[in-house]
Amino acid sequence: MIKTLRAFDLQGKNILIRADFNVPMKGSIVSNNFRIKASLPTIMTCIEAGAAVVIISHMGRPNGKVDESLSLVPVGEELAGLLEMPIKFSDNCISRDAIDTSISLKSGEIHLLENLRFHKEEELNDQEFSSKLARHGQIYINDAFGTSHRHHSSNVGVVPFFKNAGIGWLMDKELKYLDNSMSKPKTPLTIVIGGAKIDTKLKILEKFIDKADNIIIGGGMAFTFLRAKGKKVGGSLVDDSMIEFAKKIMNKALIKGVKIILPIDANCANSLENPSTNGIFSIEKIPDNMMGLDIGLETLEKYNSVLSQSQTVLWNGPMGVFEKKEFETGTRVMAKHLAECVSNGVKVIVGGGDTAAALEDYGLTKEMTHVSTGGGASLELLSGNALPAITALGV
Ligand code: AMP
Repeated sequence: MIKTLRAFDLQGKNILIRADFNVPMKGSIVSNNFRIKASLPTIMTCIEAGAAVVIISHMGRPNGKVDESLSLVPVGEELAGLLEMPIKFSDNCISRDAIDTSISLKSGEIHLLENLRFHKEEELNDQEFSSKLARHGQIYINDAFGTSHRHHSSNVGVVPFFKNAGIGWLMDKELKYLDNSMSKPKTPLTIVIGGAKIDTKLKILEKFIDKADNIIIGGGMAFTFLRAKGKKVGGSLVDDSMIEFAKKIMNKALIKGVKIILPIDANCANSLENPSTNGIFSIEKIPDNMMGLDIGLETLEKYNSVLSQSQTVLWNGPMGVFEKKEFETGTRVMAKHLAECVSNGVKVIVGGGDTAAALEDYGLTKEMTHVSTGGGASLELLSGNALPAITALGV
């Protein structure tokens, strides 16, 4: 059985918490603190029990090199603000100084370590690196649901170095929620996939063909499917290496009677740098010099009507480049519509850092049934795959 914080005597101990502080940034400012706020219950339980806390996390993809733009210093400032207390910070997660600072922490103190991925060993699940990380604490708590589908030092390799290891409240809540809601989902079940991570999402999508009634595809994902159907998509985002795979998914869906629903129109522009040149085109007529950056209004209407007729909805990935106001309509209007669906009894589960950030911006987080802090991890779990970080903890 996986252990939660309740299983441990925390008083006077150093608790090493693997958090997921991979938050959206604007320059050197945290632009959305959803994930930081979500980690507070675990941190507070430790502090209130008389423990000291050492927090480790990654941010972005620095590929094993120090990259100041991906420093966790701004996250530390945000965390200190939310907790209304000072926190200690070390700029190298495995240095002698950092380990000494952890060892000399007093009850109630918090020590945040710099981005784990500044060391290439983190993603290689290196044993030596894991053993150094383990020296920061006596009890290990994994609360980083967002990375639990990864096989890294800080969430897998580190575990055998601890006699006492378990999960925090955020992880506990995510696992319970996602497991319960998907063991027997009410149907029709509709999966909405958007965003731009075409290869990872397409591979997971294949697994949903056995579970879903409808698969709605938007965002940058849609154009690989449209190209696979022989449509001209101008300069829109297409992953050529995934076209055959997209065809395979569509054939499989046809055989199983699963509806794959694709855009019929798109809001396009010459380039992202020149968004004001935008206009809505039918999918058949996207000019060669334009790219689709949001779903069009007819598509939105079609998608929302499918969502209204669903009983369970899983949404992962924005419908367009929602960071730019010219291309946020698809994501914003769909989010509002899903909030209405929830009030009509539909279960709506949302995953993915960007989608969660969009909901926060629109003030709609609380309107959803559940907003997961993990995108890839929630998709893996919902599609029936085991999560390496959870398996490592003995489940
Ligand atoms: P993901 O991490 O897969 O959820 O992708 C999120 C990113 O996809 C966001 O930064 C969006 O700007 C981007 N995105 C959404 N729609 C499109 C599109 N049509 N073309 C290019 N990028 C897109």
